[in-house]
Amino acid sequence: MEKKVKIHTKAVHAGDRKKTGRHIPITTPIHTASSFFYEDMEMLDRVFGREEAGFNYSRYDNPSNAALEELCASLEGGHGALACSSGMGAIHVALLTALADRRKSLVAADALYGASVGMLMNVLEPMGVAVRFVDICDLPAVEKAIAEQKPGCVLMETISNPLLRVGQMDRVAQLSKAAGAALVVDNTFATPLLVRPLELGANLVVHSLTKFLAGHGDVLGGVIISDQDHYEGLRALARTVGPVLGPFESYLAMRGIKTFALRMERQCSNASVVSSWLTSRPEIDRVHFPGNAGHPDASTIRRMLPAGLHGAIVTFELKGAGRTEVFRFMNALRLVVPATSLGDVHSMMLYPSMSSHREISPKQRERMGIRDGLVRLSVGIEAAEDIIADLEQALLAARTGSTKSAKPALAETC
Ligand SMILES: *Cc1c(COP(=O)(O)O)cnc(C)c1O
Repeated sequence: MEKKVKIHTKAVHAGDRKKTGRHIPITTPIHTASSFFYEDMEMLDRVFGREEAGFNYSRYDNPSNAALEELCASLEGGHGALACSSGMGAIHVALLTALADRRKSLVAADALYGASVGMLMNVLEPMGVAVRFVDICDLPAVEKAIAEQKPGCVLMETISNPLLRVGQMDRVAQLSKAAGAALVVDNTFATPLLVRPLELGANLVVHSLTKFLAGHGDVLGGVIISDQDHYEGLRALARTVGPVLGPFESYLAMRGIKTFALRMERQCSNASVVSSWLTSRPEIDRVHFPGNAGHPDASTIRRMLPAGLHGAIVTFELKGAGRTEVFRFMNALRLVVPATSLGDVHSMMLYPSMSSHREISPKQRERMGIRDGLVRLSVGIEAAEDIIADLEQALLAARTGSTKSAKPALAETC
């Protein structure tokens, strides 16, 4: 789709309405066929030989997936995309693609999604990929790490989890390129509404579709969006290792994405309101939010993120709290869902020490700034005042020691 079309427009048009026979379906159907054939063998031969565009086997390509991939490539301004069965599957295949014809060496941001750290340390390193972690917000340290490690690939997240740090992606891209390394960016927390890493020099962008893009807590999926140089390698690898998303999931993800820009705008503005409220509360220490004036990366954020769109995650510490107090607070929530995940239409809260960062020792967590009173809030599209009211009553309940059983969840009463 033409570049001048805005992302809100792309979200509802790209990928859909392909002519099938004489009619044009308004949305892409769920194509469950595992294989496809043609009127004559000659055509099937040309499709197999990729001399002619067409579908032959769903591990290679499927019309439902192709529609989602076209949509995601359009949103991120990429050459092409591959829909994968999960965000982790997407990260794995993206890293393998990046490293295919490069040094088996990697420089990664030290603040990454927990499972990504696990993949680097427990899967890639034992297979001979040298991994070095670096503070991606410390550009001289990144430069030094790249010079010493000579990586084939650099991996970073646009907005880190859970402390929401923002690195200078364009500069990291320049350093990577100069060293012959591919830059892979996990853009899950930012979405293409905030940042489009390929425009800043990244080579491969990955998303957990499960989060903001699909956005409704009803589908697990991932996607890789590629520049031109890596696209053929990515598809060839995927044809062989088969990480693809199923057509039902592609349909759900695509349906979700149509409203992602609207949802994300609302979630970002709600997050900003909630963050300000939290900052004003005496029970709360340290509110991490990219929109805060005192954020350690404030000048980078002004350069990298659009005004007023600072993401929909707010991480904060309950003053003086440990596990017991955090459990009491989270047990008392009636509207905010205390479930693992983020980016859904409803607000959700996660306790990193118990979940995403459980495998990391308390000492190491402390060093990373992930203290025992820290919780991560993914702000939904509800009315901001209702989210705040829920947080307020839970703070009160945590202080007075009342428990969840006293009150039903809001979903049962509203
Ligand atoms: C959730 C998430 C992933 C993993 O995605 P899945 O769909 O759960 O496999 C990777 N990176 C980030 C930043 C995430 O939030």
